[in-house]
Amino acid sequence: MSDLNTTIAQTRTAILERIAAAAKTGGRPAGAVTLVAVSKQQPEDRIDAMLSTGQRVFGENRVQEAEARWAHRRADVPDLELRLIGPLQTNKAEAACALIDVIETLDRERLAAALAKAMVKTGRRPRLYVQVNTGLEAQKSGIEPAQAAAFVERCRSEHSLQIEGLMCIPPEAEPASLHFALLRKLAGECGVEKLSMGMSADYPLAIRLGATSVRVGSALFGARPAS
Ligand SMILES: *Cc1c(COP(=O)(O)O)cnc(C)c1O
Repeated sequence: MSDLNTTIAQTRTAILERIAAAAKTGGRPAGAVTLVAVSKQQPEDRIDAMLSTGQRVFGENRVQEAEARWAHRRADVPDLELRLIGPLQTNKAEAACALIDVIETLDRERLAAALAKAMVKTGRRPRLYVQVNTGLEAQKSGIEPAQAAAFVERCRSEHSLQIEGLMCIPPEAEPASLHFALLRKLAGECGVEKLSMGMSADYPLAIRLGATSVRVGSALFGARPAS
């Protein structure tokens, strides 16, 4: 194995061990937490090294970048699972449905309508998470916490969309634990099972507070090269 392959494999193993330890501390069964490897902006050789470890779940924040990186790899990696973790424009809904397996950033009614239409057109039904703006930040997308349950209900009743879970990105300047706890409470109110929360800096904490998937980029691949 090359040095890069060895480093990436060792880093992933260490992170999987921390995930398992945090799950255990939180009283959760082993395997309760999915590691989403956030590959956005990462060089191709690191992606290949990550694939060779057996990692199959990857996160991207832009549909076009995901297409360029993953469309040609799909044939060789049939069990690949691609997750969209960045904002989705309605005019990209069809491209997203054609490629992505889990869209974690459903954040407005127009997008719900566009996705419902795109699912009919493409014949693919990506699993869906609603993004919640737990910090009420103007620059961040997401449904306001107080609107989350009504929004999930409208997705079901008006657009016939199944919602699998909720996702949040806490404000940088606040303790993440408050946001993770809020998201978990909202999931109960919304009647959804899955919680996408926690990144490189705080994924063990998110797991202790109920995360079912964590989105880890730089801790797993190394820093993203400046673009
Ligand atoms: C980039 C990104 C991540 C990964 O961030 P790291 O700090 O590198 O782990 C996770 N979630 C979202 C929504 C992101 O955009």
